Amino acid sequence: MTKRIYVDNAATTKVAPEVVEAMLPYFTEDYGNPSSIYNEGRTAKKAVENAREKVACAIGADPKEIYFTGSGSEADNWAIRSVARAYKDKGNHIITSAVEHHAILHTCQDLEKQGYEVTYLPVDEYGMVSAEDVKNAIKDNTILISIMFANNEIGTIMPIAEIGKIAKEAGVLFHTDAVQAVGNVPIDVKAMNIDMLSLTAHKFHGPKGSGALYVRSGVKLTSFITGGAQERMRRAGTENVPGIVGLGKAIEMATADIEAKQKKLTEIRDTYIKKVLERVPYSRLNGHPTQRLAGNANISFEFIEGEGLLLSLDMKGISASSGSACTSGSLDPSHVLLAIGLKHEQAHGSLRTSFGEDNTLEEVDYMVDSIAEIVDRLRQMSPLYEEMMKKN
Ligand SMILES: *Cc1c(COP(=O)(O)O)cnc(C)c1O
Repeated sequence: MTKRIYVDNAATTKVAPEVVEAMLPYFTEDYGNPSSIYNEGRTAKKAVENAREKVACAIGADPKEIYFTGSGSEADNWAIRSVARAYKDKGNHIITSAVEHHAILHTCQDLEKQGYEVTYLPVDEYGMVSAEDVKNAIKDNTILISIMFANNEIGTIMPIAEIGKIAKEAGVLFHTDAVQAVGNVPIDVKAMNIDMLSLTAHKFHGPKGSGALYVRSGVKLTSFITGGAQERMRRAGTENVPGIVGLGKAIEMATADIEAKQKKLTEIRDTYIKKVLERVPYSRLNGHPTQRLAGNANISFEFIEGEGLLLSLDMKGISASSGSACTSGSLDPSHVLLAIGLKHEQAHGSLRTSFGEDNTLEEVDYMVDSIAEIVDRLRQMSPLYEEMMKKN
């Protein structure tokens, strides 16, 4: 096989050719500053507002409720820090979960240092937050609930509409990091009672460095970057016009036919999971068996190191992820895998594959053969495996 197999779409995706095409004129011809009043400026401004409409339309929001950001991480930071500041007279308690992205967790930890109180809800063995737990965690001083829409490591989809209803009834603001869900799961912020939502273009075939935060009108939003009057005085800095145009085009395409995409990816995912679990002994699926992102599979292999597996897969032309912080240079096992009850050794031997529309069932067969061969080879070198085989 000469073509590489890319199965790390949860990390980032290829920019769609149509998206590149939509962006190009804003680098070379329509390069005006949206704040300028002459022709080129007005053209750029129109493009930004057109993209804002597309983002709003994709999630059932109003265009004036969309604020462009430089990333999903920024949208997460902004949402949490803004509520903390704007509502500090009302209280200082935030509810989140143990399996959030670090953009949420590290922000909450930072706020704890500033005197805020944070509840990190545990999850069940599938990585699911219980809506009942959310309800029970609400106190008089609770100002925010932030629960991710779908988990980036194990793909579990959270009961967002239920949590939204609980938040609304309690009069507490509800933010969701929907970075993994946009384009993969239908989202309606009004029907789901979502007050704030983070998204980022590069997870659905848009450009990197272009995200957005939805903030329901009526919710107080503090300015994140002070300076010029961009983004209704909330985020200064000349707009990333090509990036914003790319985000608009990408979200329009990604949300056009979610059902067909889900169907295709679910077939690939489930074929992969079934074949790997059949072929490789001492392996298990992490995350919920059905309430999961269509493209996500996360499998733990006992007695091996995920890093060794990843490097060997890379040599065979396969790009996947260990689904843990190991990839970012830290040796700590994934906080998500620990939260669902895996032991450290199990968490270290995990492989996340996140499929995209370009993947095929033939690729799955090649992947399964490669994984079976590599896991077997790595186990032959493992003293723990040898010990276990002797005992049996
Ligand atoms: C990728 C990701 C982010 C961060 O988005 P960036 O645009 O890369 O900053 C945040 N949350 C989740 C769940 C993600 O998967």
